[in-house]
Amino acid sequence: MSPPGNNTTNHDLMQRDLSVLWHPCTQMKDHETVPVIPIKQGKGVWLEDFDGNRYLDAISSWWVNLFGHANPYINAALVDQLSTLEHVILAGFTHQPAVELSERLVQITPPTLTRCFYADNGSSAVEVALKMSYHYWRNQGCPRKTKFISLANSYHGETLGALAVGNVALYKETYKPLLLETLTAASPDCYYREHGESWADCSQRLFADMRQTLEQHSEEVCAVIVEPLVQCAGNMRMYDPIYLRLLREACDQFNVHLIADEIAVGFGRTGTLFACEQADISPDLLCLSKGLTGGYLPLSVTLATDNIYQAFYDDYQNLTAFLHSHSYTGNPLGCRAALATLDIFRDENVLEKNKQLARTMRESTKHFNEHPHVAEVRQHGMILAIELVQDKQSRKPFPWQERRGRKVYLHALKKGVLLRPLGDVIYFMPPYVITEEQIHHMTNVAWEGIQLATQA
Ligand code: PMP
Repeated sequence: MSPPGNNTTNHDLMQRDLSVLWHPCTQMKDHETVPVIPIKQGKGVWLEDFDGNRYLDAISSWWVNLFGHANPYINAALVDQLSTLEHVILAGFTHQPAVELSERLVQITPPTLTRCFYADNGSSAVEVALKMSYHYWRNQGCPRKTKFISLANSYHGETLGALAVGNVALYKETYKPLLLETLTAASPDCYYREHGESWADCSQRLFADMRQTLEQHSEEVCAVIVEPLVQCAGNMRMYDPIYLRLLREACDQFNVHLIADEIAVGFGRTGTLFACEQADISPDLLCLSKGLTGGYLPLSVTLATDNIYQAFYDDYQNLTAFLHSHSYTGNPLGCRAALATLDIFRDENVLEKNKQLARTMRESTKHFNEHPHVAEVRQHGMILAIELVQDKQSRKPFPWQERRGRKVYLHALKKGVLLRPLGDVIYFMPPYVITEEQIHHMTNVAWEGIQLATQA
């Protein structure tokens, strides 16, 4: 590869990019009018392009970065790992970072989880959980259990299995003929709570539909899969922990697994290290990725209970083993970045410090509630979302074709803040190294963008 010369510009790289790349989750024709931004380097919350413009990464580069770009501690760990072992097959072999990481994950995740199965991205962790659950029941002599229940408005990734258990029409509708048939229960989403109803009452009321779905179908259901507390890709819709408590009880009662997809909400995003802690529950399977490596490298893990693990443990001839694999399973560099990330959580009182940052985010957006086109400002810990609507009273959305959220995005870019609204929902999910001053900058720019975008 030719190194970028000193005089490489945004324009050069943009032109070359647009003739050979196909970007994720993008209508490429949009780039005829809106440039793709080539990033030269990152430091802390900042990304810098080839023309020297800086962008505050308010969404942690798709929710992955926890402790800033080019974090010196994680960098040093990776440099050391690079000179020791970059990769080795994890079937029949093992390595120190994978062993240590598994020990530490078992220690810090909810108590009944005792086994770590690695993959290399969030969707694959979900595929692993779905296959493991189905296969568990098959090994237990229950081959009729072949279905999954998920929530309306849920998102679990883009591979076909993960897409099937998701429920965001924008991503799913086109591929429906290719997908597994699944069961969908009402979302505990509190956005539509009744006047005067608390979050807890709302989520509890909406549990009735899940209970009924379980009552009717548990014989054919392997597992329920949920995103605990925040449906992130589903417009950052939020709900109360009581739902998870009720769900845990019902899954036990009806003999189905509970899969917690904490790929987005894990590692402190909702205020606790894992969102399940707020409901004081342990899932049967837990999927983690994104923040797992501090946002450095693609790595994911599915944790399972001992009960599930034991259902696969037998003589080879009985053909009960879980024969799933990915080439880069448990990559040592990824595991080492994850270990460095966990060190920072252990040594730097991160969750306690985040409480103050979360308070600042709340205070800095208080006045957004008064805006005539803001229906709701909602927050769980370090995730704060602002829902824009055409009519505040009825909560009627803007026509989606107007792409109001995108106008906020474009304004923020001009002002040096990377936001990536989900439709007309503007949200902040910043790296934890953000300062109070930077929070105010981020929310001020969003406010200006909202003012501009909601004009007639
Ligand atoms: N589950 C959830 C809750 C997610 O938010 C995401 C990614 N946004 C995924 C799964 C899929 O992860 P990946 O993009 O790494 O495949």
